[in-house]
Amino acid sequence: MTTFTQLVLASHNAGKLKELQAMLGDAIQVRSVGEFSSIEPEETGLSFIENAILKARNAARVSGLPALADDSGLAVDFLGGAPGIYSARYADGQGDAANNAKLLDALKNVPQAERSAQFVCCLALVRHAEDPLPIICEGLWAGRILTAASGKHGFGYDPLFWVPERDCSSAELSPADKNLLSHRARAMALLRQRLGLA
Ligand code: IMP
Repeated sequence: MTTFTQLVLASHNAGKLKELQAMLGDAIQVRSVGEFSSIEPEETGLSFIENAILKARNAARVSGLPALADDSGLAVDFLGGAPGIYSARYADGQGDAANNAKLLDALKNVPQAERSAQFVCCLALVRHAEDPLPIICEGLWAGRILTAASGKHGFGYDPLFWVPERDCSSAELSPADKNLLSHRARAMALLRQRLGLA
């Protein structure tokens, strides 16, 4: 197992950095890729994992340090996995409400049994920019797409995502409960194991 004392997170989001630092504890110092470059790489992959690796390699290249990236989104089975890697910009960058409206429209008249979906979170950690063996951790959270939005917590597609474990939408879960069940929590738990922290 490789041990790290520093890690660069391939994200400019301060909230994500804080969350990751809390998860990894004091042994590893997490730094933002923003300290090294403000240019974000083009996400040219066709899958979550390709884009996570691409972002991790870029962060390792600009920083000279080991780097971690995440890529996440919603994959709806009836739609062949869409919105998938385009989840954030499904409605051409018009935001969460427009994304949710577009998804409801795409599933209009689709029966409950065919509305299965999963939230996906892929984490990729590279020791250096050319690392041939990235650590890959994938967290999946299976549920179903509701026919109307419900709940006020969370973000993105949470109001439309029915959580079978709790029989409510993920926007109806408290943030603490969502953090126990979510795709991100699952991927992070795997990463902790891979790093020998769990
Ligand atoms: P990001 O790249 O991790 O910021 O997420 C990509 C997009 O996927 C977000 O903008 C949301 O539309 C969607 N998404 C990812 N995770 C979640 C979640 O936990 N709840 C709701 N939507 C999510």
